[in-house]
Amino acid sequence: MHHFSPDNPVSRISALIGNTPLLEIQYRYAGEDRSVYAKYEPLNLTGSIKDRMALHILGNAYAKGLIEPGWEIVEATSGNTGISFVAIGRALGHPVRIFMPDWMSEERKRLLLEFGANLEFVSREQGGFVGSIQKAEDYAATKAESFLPRQFSNRYNSLAHEVGTGPEILRQLAAIGHIPDAFVAGVGTGGTVMGVGRCLKTRRSQIHVHPLEPANSPVLTTGHNVGKHRIQGISDEFIPDLVELESLDHIVSIDDGDAIILAQQLACQLGLGLGISSGANVLGAIGIQAELGPGSVVVTVLPDSNKKYLSTDLMHEEPVKAGYLSTEIELLRYRSIQSIPSL
Ligand code: PMP
Repeated sequence: MHHFSPDNPVSRISALIGNTPLLEIQYRYAGEDRSVYAKYEPLNLTGSIKDRMALHILGNAYAKGLIEPGWEIVEATSGNTGISFVAIGRALGHPVRIFMPDWMSEERKRLLLEFGANLEFVSREQGGFVGSIQKAEDYAATKAESFLPRQFSNRYNSLAHEVGTGPEILRQLAAIGHIPDAFVAGVGTGGTVMGVGRCLKTRRSQIHVHPLEPANSPVLTTGHNVGKHRIQGISDEFIPDLVELESLDHIVSIDDGDAIILAQQLACQLGLGLGISSGANVLGAIGIQAELGPGSVVVTVLPDSNKKYLSTDLMHEEPVKAGYLSTEIELLRYRSIQSIPSL
């Protein structure tokens, strides 16, 4: 985690964000015991990986004088980002206005309202996600004392992972005698996959870095919005500015039903309550390990917990389809590797 000067307002809350444990998730597949590694991000202040990005963007905005106390924070988001900016914004005394597609989970909407966000819903007919971004820009253009984090294009989003999440992974793996062979992460803004990828490349130039997307909505593969899917937080209708596909390895494609089943197995077999994108990421890591070899060190992230999915298909029995990987896997156990502070 980047250290901000003690007089930067974000320093008051920075101990609550980042430095998460790394989990070694052990499983049985193709008759063999194997394991993949994953950062446990529900332990951040608001329970998701997006706190890292919000803290980093606001810390740098303060350092550069782009935001001042009392200014309104204005962002377009499908959920977790909004929750992070609202909670951190409130902690630092900012009003926060969120433009959000109206089909996101009920829990996300209620949490944003409880934190005191000014919420503006945007329907599919009004342009959905892309419409939300335009509305946020239009609103901020009329208000001098406002700050737009612009998570899809702000370099401090991926930098939060390059100086935070990435080095944490390297230190935690080093403590158990490993260096990573591959990193996989579902792409929302792409901040995670780009930032962690850049950091891990400094340790091993040959590392494989894979973006992941829903098979039912292959935006990265096709370049545009193609279909509905249930992995909230990833695949937001367009390829974000932060994503440089040419610098990454092949795209991993995961069926949203497969992701839901694996997330359910993580809960009922290992006691790990996680969101749907965590299920997708663990499946992606298991798939890449099957490509690279059972002993390869493959890392991913668990972006959030199951608590924002109580009203979704995550809480219902999901039909198994041919070709699912989740049903071929037996989850065995996990162990946690504590965060190791930087010197
Ligand atoms: N999973 C969840 C639950 C998320 O909220 C997000 C962020 N939108 C992601 C994954 C993807 O992270 P990133 O924006 O860094 O690509």
